[in-house]
Amino acid sequence: MNAWPKQSECDAFYGNPRGPDGSASAKWEAENLVYIAAFDLPFIIYYDGKPVTRVRVHKKVKDAFLRVLNRIWEASGKSQAKVDEWGISKYAGCYEYRKKRSGTTLSMHSYACAFDFDPANNGFRDPTPRFADYPEVIKAFAAEGAVWGGDWKTNCDGMHWQFARVG
Ligand SMILES: [Zn+2]
Repeated sequence: MNAWPKQSECDAFYGNPRGPDGSASAKWEAENLVYIAAFDLPFIIYYDGKPVTRVRVHKKVKDAFLRVLNRIWEASGKSQAKVDEWGISKYAGCYEYRKKRSGTTLSMHSYACAFDFDPANNGFRDPTPRFADYPEVIKAFAAEGAVWGGDWKTNCDGMHWQFARVG
């Protein structure tokens, strides 16, 4: 199991993404973020209905994230139709420099260690996210130690997985 940091330890583990003017640090981005090209993904993922050409992630989560997708791909029987049905091909973003929707601290997306999928069926504060119906997806992330927002009693966030522990 990977030893992911607590949320409060992310500055130390992933680096400090805060720039001088309230936006993201270009220096931190250059030193820490990498792109995964679409041809390195096991299946097609879509953003707003269009195939994604690349995904920008923190270099420390790249391999774990790819293992998650490959595990899901295997579990689906390598079926694009199946991963489409599960919603895991409906990518909704990783890196985005912003505050948490429920607070004033930085979102885990600001560290590029969090991923959202299929928000239409797994909305923020929806206590019955659709991903709960697909243990193949849940298990694949859990196998890499990723934390699922769908397990949160307060501010349930079923679209969201993060490579950081709550605390
Ligand atoms: Zn999220």
